[in-house]
Parts: sequence; C-alpha cells; structure tokens
Amino acid sequence: MNYIRTPSAGAPVRGVFILAMHMNPLYGRRTFVIMSQPQRTIAHFDLDAFFVSVECILDPSLKGKPLLVGGHSDRGVVAACSYEARKFGIHSAMPMKTALRLCPHATVVGSTRGAYSKYSRWVTEIIAAKAPLFEKASIDEFYLDLTGMDRFFNAYQWTIDLREEIMKATGLPISFALASNKMIAKIATDEAKPNGYLHVPAGMEQEFLAPLKVNKIPGVGDQMYRSLGELGIITIRDLSLRSVEELEKRFGKYGVDLWHKSRGIHTGEVVPYHEAKSISTENTFQENTTDLEFLMAELVRMTERVAYELRQDNKTTGCVAVKIRYGDFETTSRQTSIPYTFYDDELITKAKELFHQLWRKGEPIRLMGVRLSELTGEAIQTNLFQDTQKKNELYKAIDDVKNKFGKYSIVKAGGLEPGKEGEQEAGA
Ligand SMILES: [Mg+2]
Repeated sequence: MNYIRTPSAGAPVRGVFILAMHMNPLYGRRTFVIMSQPQRTIAHFDLDAFFVSVECILDPSLKGKPLLVGGHSDRGVVAACSYEARKFGIHSAMPMKTALRLCPHATVVGSTRGAYSKYSRWVTEIIAAKAPLFEKASIDEFYLDLTGMDRFFNAYQWTIDLREEIMKATGLPISFALASNKMIAKIATDEAKPNGYLHVPAGMEQEFLAPLKVNKIPGVGDQMYRSLGELGIITIRDLSLRSVEELEKRFGKYGVDLWHKSRGIHTGEVVPYHEAKSISTENTFQENTTDLEFLMAELVRMTERVAYELRQDNKTTGCVAVKIRYGDFETTSRQTSIPYTFYDDELITKAKELFHQLWRKGEPIRLMGVRLSELTGEAIQTNLFQDTQKKNELYKAIDDVKNKFGKYSIVKAGGLEPGKEGEQEAGA
C-alpha cells in the first residue's frame, strides 16, 4: 500500500492508518529525502455533497434518500444531489427533468442559500481558529498550508482531529487529503470521498496519480478528455509517458502544463483567506452634498461597479460595507454579512440598508465608498438554480456589453438625461 486510504467514518479508521504507516517505508525518513525546494504539506478539505448535507440537517427525514437540490420547473437544473441519487446516474448540472426520469421517486428540495452560507461560515470559523494559514477556495472547499508543522507534531493526525471537530460541531460530512501540493491534495480528496480521508506522502505523488483517469486532473473537461483519448491517453500514467514536446506541439502551453501535472508538479500557493483582496471603490464629490437622490444614484453606480469586478474575478462576496465621510472629515462605515452572491440587486439592497443605518440626515457628505470582502471562489453554483438562471443570463449579457464597450457603458447610458432625444424630437 503506497498511499493511505482510510474508509468511511464508522470503520476502524485508526487501525488501518497505523498498519499503513508501518507498511510505508517512506514514513519517518524525511532526513534522507533530498529536495530542491522545501517540502510542503498541504491539506485540502471539501464538504461532501454540501447543499444536500445542509438540507438533511434542516430536515433529517431526508437523510439516506435520493435527494435533488435545485429548481423544480421545466428549466430546472440539479445543483447538487445525494450519493443515493448518484446511484441512478444523476449528477449535478443535469436537467431536473432528466434526473426525475432516472429516479422518479427522488425528493426535490429548493435552495436554502442563506443556510448554505451560514454553515459555510461555521466551518470557516472552526478552520480559522486552528489553522495558521488557509484559503477558502469556494463555499465548501479549503486549502490549509501546514508546511513546517510536522516538526512539532504529526500533521496527518492534526488534520484527522480537525475533520472530527468540524463534523462533530456542524454535523456536516467532510473529506480531506494531505499531500505535498494543492493539486495532489485536491485530486486525493476526490478519491477519499465520500466521508473519508487520504494521505499521499511526499515522493508518492506519481504513483498515486498514475492509475487515475486524466480527467481527474482539475481543468481537464469532457472535450480535453476526448482529445487526449484520441491520442491513446486515458490514464495519468499514459500522459506522463508522453514527451513534453509532443504535448506542446498538440496543445501548446496547456500541453506543457498538463505534462507537469501528470508528474505531480504543481506550485500553486495557498492564498491566505484574510489577506484575500477586497474589491472597493470610493468617490469624493466635487461638492459636499445632502441630495439623497444623487447619493442613492451614486451608491447604485458604485455597487454595480464593484459587483461587475467581482463577476469578472469569478468570485462571490459574503460581506458588503458602506463608508461615509462627512464634510467635517468624520468618517463612519458599517458592514454586514450576506449570503454569498454576485448579484447587483442583492448587493444594492444591502448597500442601501447600510447607508440608511449610517446616514445622519441633512449632514453634508463629502465622500462615499462601497467595499466587498470575504471573497470566495465561484463554486456557490448559484447559476445552477432555476430561479436564478435567467438572472445569470441577464448579468452575463450585461457584462458582455460592458466588456465590449468599456466597463461602465451601461451604467453611464442609464444615467443619461432622457431629455436629449426629446429635444431632437421637438426640433424635428
Ligand atoms: Mg464539496
């Protein structure tokens, strides 16, 4: 046994782990390993069927049933499904109609987006309290950089304990893998699922990857998988045996990238959560103003602007803040947590609420600002929910226009005086 696989919770996990440790000759022999760069220790945690798990906590009678999360209408799509539903060949992003044909007795539950954000934050807090450096890669996914920790204690046992703590506190099943880089850790977590964990010790990366299908490499989609298949490349081993020149000739830079990945090489850093960029904008007015209509129009414009930036970064935000500076330079700000979103309308509503909580009516304002923080990867999958699908299409269309004609053309166009056309009409 070259890497350590631990079965689902409830099984005699510890016994398997110790046995595997003794069988693994690499364990505890770090002194003999010569490396060009310091050995890294990265853990990847991923909540299992996150939306489904939350729905089951909210309604325990759903547990163990084929469960589909998503919109029920004709245009509905499966946002997430339980492992019981997967047995019928259902997967996420499948049209709800198809899923219900495959499993007519499945239960469909609507999205409880506020609850997902709440549970996601809960898990984040538990990790934040323990981990020295972590990244929240999406609503249900975390990378922890534990490099150097195993000088003081066993990093693997530490992650096992952290997983236990998360499951005990929140009731959510979560899987993890420990490896020498982010890519291996992510792939290994997928192998550990559901409800398990896995350790790929340093030096075992290629051996671990070799038998897996190439589409296990993050970023290899259906089309790439087919293209590689046409070349006879099915497993990651097949890929690693090809020359880098051949892959570059066929796929360009991406081919070189793939070749490195097939050898388990990945240098991506864990981006610290609390240092993750926020997106903000602020505006000092030419004259201090008390004009509420003007201030509201500005607030909307600024919020649309940061929301657009957010979508361009493929992110969602969990926190919006508004800042007001008065004529006498006194500055106040207020922020609030919100369900993860990238929608203008939801953010504008919140920004307006914050503004009204802050604003001392009648006092002239010199500067106003809007800031989005708690930025998280796009995997909230809001676009998969039926009720938001139309909205997403609309935003995409608007953003496409913004990209084409300069970022804020639509906002500006909306702010144009309607009088102009009228005047022309009057003159004609
Ligand atoms: Mg997940």
